Amino acid sequence: MDKRVFGPTGVAVPVLGQGTWQMEEDDRTEAIRALQVGLDLGMTHVDTAELYGYGEVEELVAEALAGRRGEVFLVSKVMPNNATYEGTLRACERSLKRLKTDWLDCYLLHWPGPHPLEDTVRAFERLRAEGKIRAWGVSNFDVDDLEEVLALAGPGRIACDQVLYHLRERHIEHRVLPWCERHGLAVVGYSPFGSGDFPGPGSADGRVLREVARAHGTTPHQVVLAFLARKRSVFLIPKASRQAHTRENAAAALVRLTAEDLARLEDAFPPGPLQRELPVV
Ligand code: NAP
Repeated sequence: MDKRVFGPTGVAVPVLGQGTWQMEEDDRTEAIRALQVGLDLGMTHVDTAELYGYGEVEELVAEALAGRRGEVFLVSKVMPNNATYEGTLRACERSLKRLKTDWLDCYLLHWPGPHPLEDTVRAFERLRAEGKIRAWGVSNFDVDDLEEVLALAGPGRIACDQVLYHLRERHIEHRVLPWCERHGLAVVGYSPFGSGDFPGPGSADGRVLREVARAHGTTPHQVVLAFLARKRSVFLIPKASRQAHTRENAAAALVRLTAEDLARLEDAFPPGPLQRELPVV
């Protein structure tokens, strides 16, 4: 599995990781097994959040990671409503407890919220000084929000921006991604398969995707991951609660798209116009 340095952390993290949103709704045993298979195959970046199943998913993740914590780059997120100074400290303690670990590799503010960013950043820095988190970052932050947090924290502090990124939603390529590359942040693309809304074989763009996949003897999902991972700052966190899906996603690391494939996909899935609001799920 290819690894890239995760923003300013200096840590090499696999390009393909694993998401966990809505896993509490799936077959629990299979979801845990799928996460473990992912670890076996090198997808050791595991993304979760206190929001997911209101803690239930963090507990599920703890079960999947039992005995293997050291292998994993574990990320969780504080809910914006909790992200006061004290609230962030408490939320982190709760996540650590549910995840049965002493530290998070990265802790994110889930989206910009009602509390002063300054307080959240101060709490993140305290958690880092105490060794409870090794790095911190943000999620669903547009360039203006990123500028604000950069001004507060200074350079080299924000590990990543986790943002919506899939073939039919390439908005981040306009501004967020170039900004992150300029300032040395990792870009973590979430919902790479459109959260289940995947280009079908009946659509014109879905047909192009299938033609590219066929030419490589791979699947459309693998082509999507290879395409989205083409930029050097990007990490992806597809979610799969079935082992077969996890295996397929891990094998996407072997897909090498040609310049011609990339051009065809660029044409079929244009980034669209710059919108005022950063698209989110
Ligand atoms: P996603 O990864 O775009 O899609 C997940 C769906 O695709 C599931 O239904 C899954 O099925 C299916 N799938 C996975 N691999 C497949 C394959 N090889 N072939 C066919 N189907 C496949 O959706 P997501 O959960 O929205 O996004 C991924 C992760 O990003 C989340 O889990 C979460 O960790 C993170 N996220 C973050 C935010 C944020 O605000 N920061 C927002 C949304 C998501 P099965 O599960 O049945 O295998």
